[in-house]
Amino acid sequence: MSPLGKLLVIGFGPGDMEHITKRALDALAESEVIIGYNTYVDLIRPLLNGQEIVRTGMTEEVSRAQEAVRQAEMGKKVAVISSGDAGVYGMAGLVYEVLMQKGWRREDGVEVEVVPGISAIQSCASLLGAPVMHDACTISLSDHLTPWETIVKRVEAAASADFVIALYNPRSGRRTRQIVETQSILLRYRDPQTPVGLVKSAYRERQQVIVTTLEDMLNHDIGMLTTVIIGNSSTTVYDGLIVTPRGYQRKYTLDTTEQALKPHQRLRTEAEPWSLGAQEDRALDTPQVGAALTAPTGPSASGAAVATQTRPQAMAAVQATPAKQTGASLAAEALGRLAVGGKLPGEANARWSGQAPAVVSAAGTSAEAGAGAAAGKAPGGFGKPALFEVGVSPGVGNKKFTARQMALLADVAGDDGELEYTPDHQIVLRVPCTDPEELVGRLRDERFIVMPIGDVFKVKACDFCNMEKDDAVPVAEHLQVVLGGLQAPKETSIALNGCGMACYGAVLEDIGIVYRKGGYDLFLGGKKFGRNAHAAQPVAEGIPGDQITDIVENIIAEYKEKGHPNERFHKFFKRVGIVAGFRHEDAPATVEVNAVCGD
Ligand code: SAH
Repeated sequence: MSPLGKLLVIGFGPGDMEHITKRALDALAESEVIIGYNTYVDLIRPLLNGQEIVRTGMTEEVSRAQEAVRQAEMGKKVAVISSGDAGVYGMAGLVYEVLMQKGWRREDGVEVEVVPGISAIQSCASLLGAPVMHDACTISLSDHLTPWETIVKRVEAAASADFVIALYNPRSGRRTRQIVETQSILLRYRDPQTPVGLVKSAYRERQQVIVTTLEDMLNHDIGMLTTVIIGNSSTTVYDGLIVTPRGYQRKYTLDTTEQALKPHQRLRTEAEPWSLGAQEDRALDTPQVGAALTAPTGPSASGAAVATQTRPQAMAAVQATPAKQTGASLAAEALGRLAVGGKLPGEANARWSGQAPAVVSAAGTSAEAGAGAAAGKAPGGFGKPALFEVGVSPGVGNKKFTARQMALLADVAGDDGELEYTPDHQIVLRVPCTDPEELVGRLRDERFIVMPIGDVFKVKACDFCNMEKDDAVPVAEHLQVVLGGLQAPKETSIALNGCGMACYGAVLEDIGIVYRKGGYDLFLGGKKFGRNAHAAQPVAEGIPGDQITDIVENIIAEYKEKGHPNERFHKFFKRVGIVAGFRHEDAPATVEVNAVCGD
């Protein structure tokens, strides 16, 4: 027998007898000494058979590890126990630290075995549904051994990168501010309605499971034995369960028929526009698409800017502009997106909200349609069907639907589809559909602009007084082709008014452009709705026609690059302070007026 003993560092899982591994049970049985925190020893007591027990208090971790090493060096088999996994904020690291300090070597020192266990992130997730399906991280809010600034940085990094986050050690009797501060950091990056799960004492006697939201989480009991799981921007709640979809697909909340992914559509690059492979394809394809489109087919004569008509114009404009890289790459992205039969789908940002998580694709091209369907990603787990959903309009400026267009919409909607007219002169078509590719083709043939729905850039324009004041039409069309339908951190309106009357309300939109006296005035960061609605900030006047689109493209490129998921443009502008050289100015503070009635 070796003169040296053995250290068994055992994670015993959440705390019940069912969720402990076989190896952990055997390791406990073969140990002569058990060393652990009082509560943990009590939890595994039914598994012991006469071993010597060394109990210690919560904060005596270092002395626990030292004692374990000492006893093992004396020749004993020593079990050091941790709840969950011993390598996740458990005893494993500390045991190795003590050994390292003593110059321990693997070949001739005491044998060490770390026995894995089910960590709280896993046990708690299982009780909540499936919140940790996508990239996730754990953060301990205990600033006992870690500086608070480091923890803050990690929370910010995880929040901005849209990780699902499991907060360990969220709160104790003395540490109460950490969770409050963490919530406020998270709220800067995530929707207040983001699903949050609070699990206390998972798989133990006083187990408590609460499904709440980021906004509301502090109104519930959170303590030492709670793990807090924060969803990402796609996480949803269904029937009291938190579910994070596996991928970032285009998902919309609808509750009718499903558009199932055909087997042959799965696992195709086109079905995953966000993948590296698709990006490479796009880079390869775009120049060809551009070349194919340079053949002059004549600029569109009216505002009825159908994609096929405006493309050559936009192409010319893009090629003529030795745009900065940002503008150029945006243009390439948009052109690829609009290319007939091109590989690049438009990238309507996926959102899968609330109650009825059926999935719908929003599409701009045939490829998108396939992608959307693929993105439909068989949400079938819920057995909820999905619809194909697109926005259609007769033009950027043109608001007039032809009778043929109306007849086509009626035809494609049929008995099962629906048509919703929205305030921005667009009809949203939702229809059960097995061949979105064909549908988009039919709509385009009838000269519709077909746009993804969701978190995309939307270009809106007035009708230029029925085209009498049509000087700014090419700018609107160019913006539509280059930016319309591109994925945005949050749905964003770019609105253009053709004269200084600005009757179409461009100055209230995220980005407003008003054509006046031969130049363009630019307004940034409007908020049209809500209690704190406000007009956009005027940032420049009289921008020449050959510069305005570049400027807007640069603004969009910056927002796309630096905006957080779900961050509205006005919030982004305020946060970063300067966008494309335009400085944000705070609106004058609201004046509190004493109420004259009531008490
Ligand atoms: N090694 C453990 C973590 C120890 S840190 C593991 O891998 O799970 C202690 C924190 O873990 C607690 O503050 C709590 O956030 C979490 N935790 C541990 N057991 C838990 C349980 N049964 N239910 C909920 N959270 C738990």
